[in-house]
Amino acid sequence: MMPRAWLRELNPGRLVFPPVCEICDSPLSTGEQAEMPFLCGSCVPLMTPVSDRCCHLCGQVFEGPALSTLQCSNCRDRELGFDFAVSPYRSKGVMRDLMHEYKYSRQIHLARLFGKCLTEVWQDSRLTAGKWVVVPVPLHRKRYRERHFNQAREISSIFVKLSPPEMDLKLRPLLKRVRYTVRQAQLDRDLRLKNLQSAFDVPVFQRKERYQGCRFLIVDDVLTTGSTASECASVLRRYFDPEEIVAISVLRG
Ligand SMILES: [Zn+2]
Ligand SMILES: [Zn+2]
Repeated sequence: MMPRAWLRELNPGRLVFPPVCEICDSPLSTGEQAEMPFLCGSCVPLMTPVSDRCCHLCGQVFEGPALSTLQCSNCRDRELGFDFAVSPYRSKGVMRDLMHEYKYSRQIHLARLFGKCLTEVWQDSRLTAGKWVVVPVPLHRKRYRERHFNQAREISSIFVKLSPPEMDLKLRPLLKRVRYTVRQAQLDRDLRLKNLQSAFDVPVFQRKERYQGCRFLIVDDVLTTGSTASECASVLRRYFDPEEIVAISVLRG
């Protein structure tokens, strides 16, 4: 077995050792590393794109034949804080495993892979060129102490770097988590909605800035029911009144 764990500890950014594929361990060429960081050409097809088999409003993926937006079971009886949600990949198979490694085993270098994946949201024709404020979903400070990094924030900064220049992006961590909440993944749909009430706020010093003519992008690693992003969006609307708020995530549960 390759001594991967200690290599990463020594060199989390893989600056000295040539990078290898996270899945099959084969060395990566510069081209491959630029195309999809930490995945080789043979493993890229293992990722499952969402494609257009999803609700155009909340982004919920349809397992069966495509349905119209009106019939989406996730959003038809809810008021969502964001205008719509876009995620390029499904949270399954290798992507779900890698996301797990990233968040819970501190494989922070994988932010490069996920940030790159997230730039695929620009293929959605509703996300047009212009001024965008990028707001990562915040972590509560208690969870931050356990995890040592905010996964959404790391992904956001790579996303901003790799996005096309005509997307005029400003990374602004405008939200803080003011209430410690149980992990959303542990709850069913109804409890998820209740769990987040008053969980987020904008710190006083951040409230004054005006973002005239800007649209907002809320960034999370995984979106499932969209409750977290929706709650974040409602808080942003309260303070900034943006024209549009779009929730984006690397993976869709
Ligand atoms: Zn591979
Ligand atoms: Zn929907």
